[in-house]
Amino acid sequence: MSEPLVIIGNGMAAARLCEELAQRALGRYAIAVIGEEPQLAYNRILLSSVLAGDVPASETLLKPASWWRDRGVTLRYGAAATSVDLAARNVTLADGKALSFAKLVFATGSRAIRLPIAGAELPGVRTFRDLADVSSIANSASRGTRVVVIGGGLLGIEAAYGLAKAGAKVTLVHLMDRLMERQLDPRAASMLKRALEAKGIEVLLEVATSRFVGDDRVEAVEFKDGRRIAADMAVVAVGIKPNAEIAAASGLAVNRGIVVDDHLATNESGVFAIGECAEHRGVCYGLVEPANEQAHVLAARLAGRDVRYAGSVNATNLKVSGVHVFSAGDFLGTEGTESIVLSDPGLGTYRKLVVAGGRMVGAVLYGDTADGLWYLELIRTGAEIESCREDLIFGRALVERCAA
Ligand SMILES: Cc1cc2nc3c(=O)[nH]c(=O)nc-3n(C[C@H](O)[C@H](O)[C@H](O)COP(=O)(O)OP(=O)(O)OC[C@H]3O[C@@H](n4cnc5c(N)ncnc54)[C@H](O)[C@@H]3O)c2cc1C
Repeated sequence: MSEPLVIIGNGMAAARLCEELAQRALGRYAIAVIGEEPQLAYNRILLSSVLAGDVPASETLLKPASWWRDRGVTLRYGAAATSVDLAARNVTLADGKALSFAKLVFATGSRAIRLPIAGAELPGVRTFRDLADVSSIANSASRGTRVVVIGGGLLGIEAAYGLAKAGAKVTLVHLMDRLMERQLDPRAASMLKRALEAKGIEVLLEVATSRFVGDDRVEAVEFKDGRRIAADMAVVAVGIKPNAEIAAASGLAVNRGIVVDDHLATNESGVFAIGECAEHRGVCYGLVEPANEQAHVLAARLAGRDVRYAGSVNATNLKVSGVHVFSAGDFLGTEGTESIVLSDPGLGTYRKLVVAGGRMVGAVLYGDTADGLWYLELIRTGAEIESCREDLIFGRALVERCAA
């Protein structure tokens, strides 16, 4: 008899877990996936391209319906899980139905944070997290629409780019003194700012939003320094919050996310969490690669292997608004580290490698990121780099040629 395994959340982590389980333990579990969104799992990172009009929404599906069917996975999408009874081992859905489980996996991801300021609930103030957000933003944006995007992290920048591409007049405002401060050093961030400005996006740094102004819908955004910008729409992209409320209400240990150990296990036997909703060694990741790594380890454990998840190197390999950007590890450099820098403003490329004790500990690449994954491997493995240090900044091809 197959063991009933219920997964709450039908996003990227859940899809990867099902894929890995199908490869490793087909038939061992009767898998049911509960998804709040009213469609099959899709590739969330393509939402920026959908907004920019580069990819149709239909092309974001991770797997066709037949894939799930052929592997015997029961999909319950369009109905959220509303509660979990750990003692009775069942999950209740918004439609009143219940599913029993022997093993349970939370893969509920995160949601966009809303700004706790006046006017935040006005029509026209939107977030950018799922397909429904993209279609409502896209439906309201046309040539000449005035949009203020709040938040100069990856999502805000992607939203600004997509909207500008659709012909909207976009102002991007950010609280910090540089864009993507968690991924980019000041130099790369200022190159990115110039690239966005060249696309017609106005970028305002060190600006705090104080309220959204409007009667029936948003008409302007006001800042703490007294400035006010007229707006037909505002997109808030100031961060994410793990969806951990149901887990907390059921009695699981939750800090920022659902607390898991190196087995991706919660404090309740047979109950696990992966992806953005999970907190491992104090870290909630906000990228897809750690979610995939967690899904990989959990699938192996559920298939009976004794493997552990030791955390992920925070690495970002992105095409931000048409510009390739890569960052990993300690990209700013701390005491005791040294930076090797190569910059060609004319070509729009910049590279910074951070080294310490004869090993690479971080990197930022802007423009040409082809060597990003190779640098990431050097950081992950802690490989010795002294023997190739003088060529390292020029990339893998030169280092390998010199070593041959
Ligand atoms: C616009 C955008 C661009 C991005 N670009 C990148 C990128 O370039 N690179 C990168 O690494 N990452 C990127 N990310 C982040 C990446 O998409 C996430 O890290 C990844 O999707 C996390 O996977 P997950 O399964 O944990 O969460 P999700 O993919 O969010 O899936 C969670 C699912 O669970 C559902 N759910 C929540 N609560 C319940 C409930 N109670 N019952 C049933 N279902 C529930 C949610 O509706 C959701 O469908 C981007 C994110 C966005 C929004």
